[in-house]
Amino acid sequence: MKVGIVWFHRDLRLADHPALRAALQRVERIVALYIDDPEAEIGWPAGAAGRWWLARSLARLDGDLRSRGAGLTIRSGPSRDRLAEVIAETGATAVFWNRRIEPSLARRDERIRRELLAAGILVEVGPADLLFEPETIRSRSGEPYQVFTPFWRECLRGPDPAAPLPAPRRVAGLPRPPASSALPSGGDRNAGLQSEWDPGEEGARRRLRSFLDERAAAYARDRNRPDEEATARLSAHIHFGEISPREIWRRAGVRAGEGGERGIVAGIETWLRQIGWREFAHHLLIHFPRTTDRPLRPEFGSFPWRRSKRDLDAWRRGLTGVPIVDAGMRELRAIGWMHNRVRMVAASYLVKDLLIHWREGARWFWETLVDADLANNTLGWQWVAGSGADAAPYFRVFNPVVQGERYDPHGAYVRRWVPELAGVPARWIHRPWAAPRDALGSQGFLLGRTYPEPIVDHAAARDRALAAFGKVQNARRPGSARDEAP
Ligand code: FAD
Repeated sequence: MKVGIVWFHRDLRLADHPALRAALQRVERIVALYIDDPEAEIGWPAGAAGRWWLARSLARLDGDLRSRGAGLTIRSGPSRDRLAEVIAETGATAVFWNRRIEPSLARRDERIRRELLAAGILVEVGPADLLFEPETIRSRSGEPYQVFTPFWRECLRGPDPAAPLPAPRRVAGLPRPPASSALPSGGDRNAGLQSEWDPGEEGARRRLRSFLDERAAAYARDRNRPDEEATARLSAHIHFGEISPREIWRRAGVRAGEGGERGIVAGIETWLRQIGWREFAHHLLIHFPRTTDRPLRPEFGSFPWRRSKRDLDAWRRGLTGVPIVDAGMRELRAIGWMHNRVRMVAASYLVKDLLIHWREGARWFWETLVDADLANNTLGWQWVAGSGADAAPYFRVFNPVVQGERYDPHGAYVRRWVPELAGVPARWIHRPWAAPRDALGSQGFLLGRTYPEPIVDHAAARDRALAAFGKVQNARRPGSARDEAP
């Protein structure tokens, strides 16, 4: 009897799983294995919120596999040793997995692949969770792209992404599958995560369906509005591989083809462009693996970042005195997610108003986001800091009051996450410090007492940032003269 191991990574699903499909074609019995190996994720092991999600997603995958005939075996420790152990226990002659592209994991997997092959084990590595194989996307000069628009154009010029594979009806496991070590608990982090999210393949598909049916038609118009539920909120599902981008592409395409509501085609096109930003982020991570910790543009290496524990702390806790920033940071703590527009504003506030290193922000997001993703997080932070590919020009310093008034015009988002401001009239909610005393009446709001005064003055902070950023001469390069935000 031929036994093969399917080694699950961040592809915690059964549908469109190339490694699982290959195993089902080549072996008679399958051992489904997950190895909890945080040490391999050098410098970036999953943070608390990510581990909360992971634990639940693994439990779901285990249930889904069991209902088809094979449970999930979980082990923890170095992947190489745990794989060797399970091979010895089961007599497996083949190992199947899908490719990871995070630099340290890609190196680890390649080492393991060679060792297994040398030991006479068959190894098959399926494609990464991307629409387009990264190596196939190159500019005419053969260089990797550093600007999104031509990158995406090139992606769309080639053949369509592969059609998604159906989930298998049955997965024949061993009569006595190898024992599991305990599931990583993921802690019993707050009820906010619990009530907001439904990790697992079924939850992912439900979210995609409800987005395409109920919100996609208005996405192009409303996607920057944090006060509306206008986006898909699929990022953590995508990060953990509970739904593949190929399935997303297919389902979104079918939905656009059905037509119906006004705006549906434009909405889906705009939304798939965001999925394109994810592709771009992964493309950059493959070609510039050091950008997780260092600026892509070397002139930023000597940037005069400030160190201020007090300011960093205020930012993390949502106590900067700037309502839209504080709302975002509190949303993040409460539900492990933040709206994209607010991520940009809060990140810009940290690196430009407070002049604190983007890596501090990236680390905090990493710890607290359920969707913390090395490629997307790196792109987001380097974009905001102006030190990455196709980044925001240095002279773009988001004005948080203008951003708040434009994208949260009635203040509903701020009121939801900063309850101290609930009674402040919409006109003043994004700049309560400027409100005349009588405008607040008896709202119980006391600047400096119930809600902090701004920790920095934006106009002065902007001048300071322009002076510091101007020195690194982050002028726009030709070819990136557009103004598209990720
Ligand atoms: P939708 O608008 O519905 O978009 C659909 C999908 O497209 C998302 O789920 C995501 O997979 C992808 N996507 C959307 N926007 C982006 C983008 N700007 N870059 C790359 N992919 C994108 N996203 C993460 O998944 N993980 C992160 O760790 C992360 N860190 C970020 C840090 C900063 C400073 C910034 C500015 C952005 C970051 N993003 C990150 C990107 C973006 O904010 C989230 O992907 C998005 O808010 C997720 O919500 P959604 O699923 O409703 O998105």
